[in-house]
Amino acid sequence: MKEDRHDVVVVGAGPAGSVTARIAAEHGLDVLLIERNQEIGVPVKCAEGVSKEIRKFVAPDKKWVCAEVKGANIYGPDGTKVVMSGENMDEVGYVLERRIFDKFLASEAARAGAEVRVKTEAYGIIEEEGYAKGIYARAMGEDTRIYADIVVGADGVESKVGRWAGIDTRLRPSNISVGAEFLMCNIDLNKDYSEFFIGSEIAPKGYAWIFPKGGDCANVGIGIGGDMSGEKHRAIDYLNAFVRNRFPEGKVVAEMYGAVPLSGPLNENVADGLVLVGDAARQVNALTGGGITYAMHAGEIAGDVIAKAVQEKDLSKKRLMEYESRWRSAFGKRLETGLKAKKFFFNLPDEDLNTLAHSLAGVRINELTPLALLMELVKRNPKMLMGLAKMLL
Ligand SMILES: Cc1cc2nc3c(=O)[nH]c(=O)nc-3n(C[C@H](O)[C@H](O)[C@H](O)COP(=O)(O)OP(=O)(O)OC[C@H]3O[C@@H](n4cnc5c(N)ncnc54)[C@H](O)[C@@H]3O)c2cc1C
Repeated sequence: MKEDRHDVVVVGAGPAGSVTARIAAEHGLDVLLIERNQEIGVPVKCAEGVSKEIRKFVAPDKKWVCAEVKGANIYGPDGTKVVMSGENMDEVGYVLERRIFDKFLASEAARAGAEVRVKTEAYGIIEEEGYAKGIYARAMGEDTRIYADIVVGADGVESKVGRWAGIDTRLRPSNISVGAEFLMCNIDLNKDYSEFFIGSEIAPKGYAWIFPKGGDCANVGIGIGGDMSGEKHRAIDYLNAFVRNRFPEGKVVAEMYGAVPLSGPLNENVADGLVLVGDAARQVNALTGGGITYAMHAGEIAGDVIAKAVQEKDLSKKRLMEYESRWRSAFGKRLETGLKAKKFFFNLPDEDLNTLAHSLAGVRINELTPLALLMELVKRNPKMLMGLAKMLL
């Protein structure tokens, strides 16, 4: 078998992997970033909405920003509209073109010195004395043993890297959102607002979305709870019904299917010689399903900690715990709030969701964060939301 050696091997060239690779390479490490697909960013499995917080990690570029929106319209089961505007809600702010965005992030890693290899799939981990020491990878039918001081699992929702290292990354169906989406054109849409539709008939334990992509085009999709999916009531069935009803003249020019982990983060994302980032670490807001900016933020922290650990020649779990504590203090609380809110709202009947939507009808919420929405709801529905308020405080 061929052999190879690097300071760091990063498995998966999504936002988490590419940002981790770039930061580690900027610190002077020899970094290899591998991606199983032949083209980074393709196939797209995302609604492509991000908050403007993304500017903390990268300067927006019109090459990969398709549209900019001012806020979100949320529709209750009976159609009552709640308007939110501002800048900081996951999935609302910019609508990206991920096939270009993901390539851009990988190119930035390459410019910083990382080697990028596509069509290269990791299929196992090399372990010595309890430490991850690299991975086995296959490219064009050829196997390579890739040694590295640190293995980064940035391999998304289907992540196997963590499991290979003994971390329990299993997801129950109730902790997954399964999604189907059309890129549609020739539709009449609100170009300034992303739109969300909730209710058990539209999307049980989830929501439908319309994210403008410029002109008369939008990503129109639906995510439902994995435990709600079955014969004739899969996400695509709900999406077909939604589109038939809403955009009978619309034309579908692309389709995509994918899953988002909604379990909340793993208890531990590090092991001796190993770090997990992004969806692999379940760093997703369980209420919104947004994970892009968290993946990038985690990647920045992981790249920095890895660089120091390699330079200090201490790759122990104990040393890598700095990553764990830094990402948790940066955005762990937000993920926790999202998880609590998801558990609460996904179990509310439509009548209660309607009551909540009515309580906000005509009110304009000027801060675009899930927490602002929750606080406004608690203020107006103290009895119904007492339980939620207690959970959040
Ligand atoms: C339907 C849907 C809609 C979504 N909408 C939004 C949204 O609007 N906004 C938002 O913020 N988030 C959204 N998300 C979530 C978002 O896509 C993820 O949180 C984000 O992509 C996480 O980035 P990542 O780098 O961790 O993982 P990914 O982007 O999934 O990248 C992982 C990469 O690893 C590669 N890989 C996997 N296994 C291997 C292997 N063994 N060897 C080599 N390579 C491997 C994969 O091919 C992939 O390229 C959505 C997800 C879905 C499914």
